[in-house]
Amino acid sequence: MSSVSYPYEAPESQKLFDRASAVTPGGVNSPVRAFRAVGGTPRFMVSGRGPYLTDADGREYVDLVCSWGPMILGHAHPEVIEAVQAAVSRGTSFGTPGRGEVELAEEIVTRVTPVEQVRLVSSGTEATMSAIRLARGFTGRTKIVKFAGCYHGHVDALLAAAGSGLATFALPDTPGVTGATAADTIVLPYNDLDAVRAAFAAHPGEIACVITEASPGNMGVVPPLPGFNAGLARLCREDGALFVSDEVMTGFRVSRSGWYGYESAREGWGPDTVPDLMTFGKVMGGGFPAAAFGGRADVMAMLAPAGPVYQAGTLSGNPVATAAGLAQLRGCTDAVYATVDRVAEEISGLVGEALSKEGVAHRVQKAGNMFSVFFTDDVVTNYDEARRQESFRFTAFFQSMLANGVYLPPSAFESWFVSAAHDAGAVGRIAEALPAAARAAAQAG
Ligand code: PLP
Repeated sequence: MSSVSYPYEAPESQKLFDRASAVTPGGVNSPVRAFRAVGGTPRFMVSGRGPYLTDADGREYVDLVCSWGPMILGHAHPEVIEAVQAAVSRGTSFGTPGRGEVELAEEIVTRVTPVEQVRLVSSGTEATMSAIRLARGFTGRTKIVKFAGCYHGHVDALLAAAGSGLATFALPDTPGVTGATAADTIVLPYNDLDAVRAAFAAHPGEIACVITEASPGNMGVVPPLPGFNAGLARLCREDGALFVSDEVMTGFRVSRSGWYGYESAREGWGPDTVPDLMTFGKVMGGGFPAAAFGGRADVMAMLAPAGPVYQAGTLSGNPVATAAGLAQLRGCTDAVYATVDRVAEEISGLVGEALSKEGVAHRVQKAGNMFSVFFTDDVVTNYDEARRQESFRFTAFFQSMLANGVYLPPSAFESWFVSAAHDAGAVGRIAEALPAAARAAAQAG
């Protein structure tokens, strides 16, 4: 950490950060944006176009964050912008049902077979929170199972992620979440079906649902081992619990039907291995606050006003957000996914080559077109293993890439995201920045 330097100053970003810090806790509206894990001045961005972001100091970066996943077509995609402008000109919110939300729901239901009905919300957090309430309402049970290292938004019950070990009742990860809330959450090590079996054996008939990231990207990219998701679905079915697959990050990104499409095709999932409920966000909002949860029609029928489980939102199905999401999803053709896959393959390959050349211990882990780098020789299959990496090397790597115009996620525990707009020019700039970053990672200590 101490050997890291911040070779480029960012005076305008720093001024904005100082102003922000006076009026906003920590100067940001979502913690990871503050660069606490990597140090230095968070860049305040003023515009984005294609694969590039421009900061307040006028410096341009190749963007490998893509707004944490949503911008799969690149920034300011003409079709998305046109749809948004047309929607805005008709009015921004009506508080009534509208055509856009019907069309967006139809698009989701068409793409993702297990989703028979879907409810639109405004954030991934709302989607997972509502899915859990619905699972509890449907089953009449209280406990939920989640996995250490999986993030499902800042839902109280899901912020309990008390590390690894065998089935433990979780302690809250943050002040403000009561022990009582966390006590109904069982946190298990990821990729460990035996631990899930043991939890069901210890609490028969008490677990409402198992929620998992379809393929985790919030501890770095740690894909499910073959058969893990299908095994979860079977164990849930045997016990009468619901299987909730959180596709907020993977949905409509790793394939036209998200991780479900990607993995079910590989593993040949049958009707007994599909999720009961799924959650979506990011890509389906086209850069606007739109998210969703959906699944089995008999479960969704429990939601108000059809059923007794309450769920609502003033801006749910907002006409501008749904127009953006619909335009983006319609733009996500097979050709787009092929491009995103190829670009991810190319960039992850370049990163691996550069680090190997400098003799830096690393693993590039991929889940479809999501990938991240772990600074370790070992395969990473769960959160404990992820935390054993030499993350101080990432800090040096990150700062060097930033100084050379490549914007990476400011943490070693995040997925990198590419878009269909990452053309040869953008990839070339990454390739140019990599050797120095790999050297910086090698020298870090
Ligand atoms: N679920 C997953 C898998 C996520 O990655 C995230 C956010 O990164 C969320 C839920 C929460 O979504 P939001 O930030 O829109 O509330």
